[in-house]
Amino acid sequence: MTAAPSRRAFLRGRFEAPAVMRPIGALAESAFLEACTGCDDCVRACPEAILVKGDGGYPHVDLSDNGCTFCNDCIDACDTGALIPDSPWPWTVAVAETCLSNKGVECRTCQDHCDSRAIRFRPALGGQVRMDLDASLCTGCGFCVAPCPVNAISLIQSTPTEASRC
Ligand code: SF4
Ligand code: SF4
Ligand code: SF4
Repeated sequence: MTAAPSRRAFLRGRFEAPAVMRPIGALAESAFLEACTGCDDCVRACPEAILVKGDGGYPHVDLSDNGCTFCNDCIDACDTGALIPDSPWPWTVAVAETCLSNKGVECRTCQDHCDSRAIRFRPALGGQVRMDLDASLCTGCGFCVAPCPVNAISLIQSTPTEASRC
């Protein structure tokens, strides 16, 4: 098992998402693939429409338009035990160097979409404003991902699992 990336690495976006992002509550990847029938009940149940059918017919999360409210509707819809309540959600936010605040351009779009107040901007040397991400407040909801105008935000695994690479 790999060590969890450091917070500095998170902020610099040096760790790319290593695995398929399954719906919340998903069993460890091998068990999930065994239990999931690809029935799509979870996909249809998601009110945010962030679940899509992926490789092999298995569902995964697509944050290109929306985020997860952790409503559990997908878990409730799953009759096979592939998704179970109260499982840890091993995803947290990572910000790439392309973030506009690294280039002296003021942009607070991600902050505007973060209800958890995990993203703040603070004055830095040279009169710049730099992003200050508090990973401890990040729920991994993904609502900050789609609005970023330069696609600088992604979710990475905060606790590595045996999930396979996408
Ligand atoms: S918890 Fe709710 S919003 Fe999140 S993927 Fe499941 S159904 Fe969709
Ligand atoms: S509802 Fe359960 S079994 Fe059906 S596709 Fe979703 S995770 Fe797989
Ligand atoms: S993933 Fe959610 S909680 Fe984390 S920084 Fe983005 S909007 Fe905030």
